[in-house]
Amino acid sequence: MTESPSRKLIIAIDGPAGAGKSTIASRLARKLGYINLESGAMYRALALKAIEWDLSFDDEAALLKAAENARIQLEPSMGGNRVLLDGRDVSSRIRERDVTEAASRVSVHPQVRALMVARQREMGTGGGVVMEGRDIGTKVFPDADLKIFLDADPVIREQRRLDQQKIRGGSVPDIAADMAAELRARDQRDRTRASSPLVAASDAVILDSTRLSEDDVLGRVEELVREKMERS
Ligand code: C5P
Repeated sequence: MTESPSRKLIIAIDGPAGAGKSTIASRLARKLGYINLESGAMYRALALKAIEWDLSFDDEAALLKAAENARIQLEPSMGGNRVLLDGRDVSSRIRERDVTEAASRVSVHPQVRALMVARQREMGTGGGVVMEGRDIGTKVFPDADLKIFLDADPVIREQRRLDQQKIRGGSVPDIAADMAAELRARDQRDRTRASSPLVAASDAVILDSTRLSEDDVLGRVEELVREKMERS
């Protein structure tokens, strides 16, 4: 069947932390007039709920119940997603280190993932969406129109995370080594978990941003989008 050229695509951007997914996804979405959805923010919101309710990050049943009862809303805005948890704006809080660590732990549970994946599918159905995460191309939208796997050397990714921290005014020298170790541990957890490990989909375009500027990466992704639109 020939598809309409104006059909709105589903674009999946996956990859490890610090590869530049969020920035690329939000800039791309803005250029295309699409919405950008950060799936990681949903796991972060659940992690915050777990912290506040004093739930064990290993208790899948309790986490699933919390996730079922949580109202997690992603509102695309200029600087990324505004995130509401049960009506409360938690956009900044969920970026803090304790939540970052907890998100990587609550997201290992298959039943929690199944629920999140179902919600992510609801949000993206209909297209016109750039969704970023770890399993978008493999699990959430295995039939996405375009799949990008954005990677970068771990040292560069750690440096980028530190730079972001600097922008937010953290005392960088004191925490640099800790943050690097945490990023590696989260990477390892994401890549080795039994349920939907971080892996490039077989039909994903792999982009290594180690030596590329943000503009270069965006340019390359836009090219891929154009090719896709011309072909469809
Ligand atoms: O992308 P972000 O760093 O905000 O994601 C936080 C955590 O949520 C990740 O470390 C990862 O463990 C988990 N995550 C996931 N699947 C996704 C998105 C995020 O498991 N699709």
